[in-house]
Amino acid sequence: MTAQLIDGKPVAQQVRSEVAQRAAAFAARAGRQPGLEVVLVGDDPASHVYVRNKERASGKVGIRGVAHRLPADTSQAKLLELVDRLNADTTVDGILVQLPLPSQIDPEAVTARIDPAKDVDGLTPISAGLLVLGRPGLRPCTPVGCMLLLEAIGCNPQGKRAVVVGRSNLVGKPIAHLLLARHATVTMAHSRTADLGAVVAEADIVVAAAGKRDLIRGAWIKPGAVVLDVGTNRKDDGTACGDVEFEPASERASFITPVPGGVGPMTIAMLLSNTVTAAEARVR
Ligand code: NAP
Repeated sequence: MTAQLIDGKPVAQQVRSEVAQRAAAFAARAGRQPGLEVVLVGDDPASHVYVRNKERASGKVGIRGVAHRLPADTSQAKLLELVDRLNADTTVDGILVQLPLPSQIDPEAVTARIDPAKDVDGLTPISAGLLVLGRPGLRPCTPVGCMLLLEAIGCNPQGKRAVVVGRSNLVGKPIAHLLLARHATVTMAHSRTADLGAVVAEADIVVAAAGKRDLIRGAWIKPGAVVLDVGTNRKDDGTACGDVEFEPASERASFITPVPGGVGPMTIAMLLSNTVTAAEARVR
């Protein structure tokens, strides 16, 4: 079997055009654009690129995207002060604090300070709790993007065996809960999992989110499985690659995401979608 590629770009484009329509309808009703404020502390070059991309992407769909770039020696108290200010600002619908943060700042304390109604990254304890309880709330962007990719290929998780490799609060855990909510039988694998190959081999849906190049061997993939590769790694020549051994896995899977161009494009699209959702919920 040769897998069909799951191209994230048209799916993400569809999300963006729906977001643009909703943002325009919101602006007509509320008299202002939905507002997304992104906070960046320090000089991490990758984070600067991500934040610039978020600003640009916001502008293209009619969201007012504002970035706050703070110096690397910013204290936790100063950052919390800014978060409090954004929480209180009625023209701000979404707040995102770009991770990682410099070592003097506790990321959990900062994330927990964000008003859950403006938590467009879906990472506050309240948002995480709502997800686990199966109650409405803002969901983390990459995991929701993965669910939309499954929908785009007509894959209904109900009754399927899903294996999520990685258990971070950002990716692995939320994806596992979203799959569970769609009635998949979910296994979460991690660095202490014994015989990862045997676990992955059982999966109808594999989600790889470990951040380890070639961790998931092509030979482990059950014939016909759907493979979503969230991992973002570098090959020796500097080009991007995922966690899955792509060529051999493609010989066995029915569908597979490429890296880049699979899951990646979904993340910002879902951030924009969450921002409009937050705006719509705040201004009725
Ligand atoms: P993370 O916080 O470092 O978590 C990695 C997870 O993988 C951990 O749960 C870890 O297990 C597990 N793991 C590590 N080595 C393993 C191994 N040998 N076998 C099995 N499990 C192993 O990373 P993350 O933030 O979740 O991100 C995961 C990957 O997704 C990264 O490559 C990241 O760059 C990428 N990512 C991509 C997007 C996108 O838009 N495409 C968005 C977010 C993240 P333990 O818990 O036991 O340590």
